[in-house]
Amino acid sequence: MKRIFFLGLAANFPKDEILAHTFAMGRKEDLADLKSFLLKKYGGERAILAKNGRSALALALKAYFEPGDAIIVNGFTCYAVYEAVKAAELKPVFADISLDDLNFNTETIKKALSKGAEKPDSRVKGIIIQNTLGNPINVEEIEAFAKEHDLIIIEDLAHCAGVKYADGREAGTVGAAAVLSFGKEKSIDTISGGAVVLRHPYKNTIKAPSKHPKLSDHLRARFYPCFGSLCRKLTYIHLGGALMKFLTAIHWVEKSADNKLDLGRRPSKFEAKRALMQIKSLSRTGEKPLRTFYLVNDRTKLLAKLKGAGYYFDGFWYEKPVSPVRYYKKVHFPEKDCPNAVFAAEHIINLPRYYRKKNLEPAIKIIEKNLEDKA
Ligand SMILES: *Cc1c(COP(=O)(O)O)cnc(C)c1O
Repeated sequence: MKRIFFLGLAANFPKDEILAHTFAMGRKEDLADLKSFLLKKYGGERAILAKNGRSALALALKAYFEPGDAIIVNGFTCYAVYEAVKAAELKPVFADISLDDLNFNTETIKKALSKGAEKPDSRVKGIIIQNTLGNPINVEEIEAFAKEHDLIIIEDLAHCAGVKYADGREAGTVGAAAVLSFGKEKSIDTISGGAVVLRHPYKNTIKAPSKHPKLSDHLRARFYPCFGSLCRKLTYIHLGGALMKFLTAIHWVEKSADNKLDLGRRPSKFEAKRALMQIKSLSRTGEKPLRTFYLVNDRTKLLAKLKGAGYYFDGFWYEKPVSPVRYYKKVHFPEKDCPNAVFAAEHIINLPRYYRKKNLEPAIKIIEKNLEDKA
């Protein structure tokens, strides 16, 4: 029987991890332990646990900015980031990316700011560093720019927990706040949950989420790895896909992008326990990027070829400059000013780090052949 490789559907949970996740018992102390570990690791004043990464990011933004402030955002990102910016009542200024690392740089930031020149850009108060797919940004350059323009740096670690910058510092130890997501396929994956460490003096009107998670959210987080595994086991892709669609339709599974922002709820205790375990072993996983990316020629054709070889992609990072596509229109993304982001969204393919090299080799060969054809 031909092996099928699902790049998604909780494929980063091997069998023993599924069991450990599904039956993990959380205690109240796990929440406290996670917070104190984060405080020690990132050197902060206060750690807050949240329902997901976007809620954590919104709390970080509220701690440092005033409604109406503008903030520089990577022009190739996830709708979750946009949602957090909006929840904090800030205005996003999207800066185009470099095709080398999918991050903005000082050149593209300056360009984005000058585009807003007819409107006064003096209200730009901050910058969110994202280290897209785990590719570290040139942090010294960004830091110098931020200092010069009096911008507060927020580090979004959803893709890059454990990643080191060129100067040896770890992501999350540079900015005013380090924001973590524990969502599906992020650097730390407990299906949902998030945290923020406030490292610099902040507004102390910020209230930590204290309500229990909803039972439905708790159950979805518990069982998603089981459901994902079941769908992957249904070797015939259309059957696995159909089951996943059905589970989503009856709300037993929630698409990552639909995970609601909620500033009142904390994560489940078992998620805190699992997140702490994963953060403790980050030095091992943080060395590889979260996903290796390629900018390919005729992606639709290439995807069909990869499917023929048994590689089934469950969605993209990212299919639009702000993904997923079903939310893209809401963003009013400045496509004209971000040509690289538009190009990347049309040409990117990326492979997650959780597969062994041996298992990905046939896919990499197919992709490399495509890149040669282009050249
Ligand atoms: C996924 C993601 C987040 C937060 O995600 P949640 O689903 O809310 O946990 C934040 N930033 C980036 C860049 C992301 O990809």
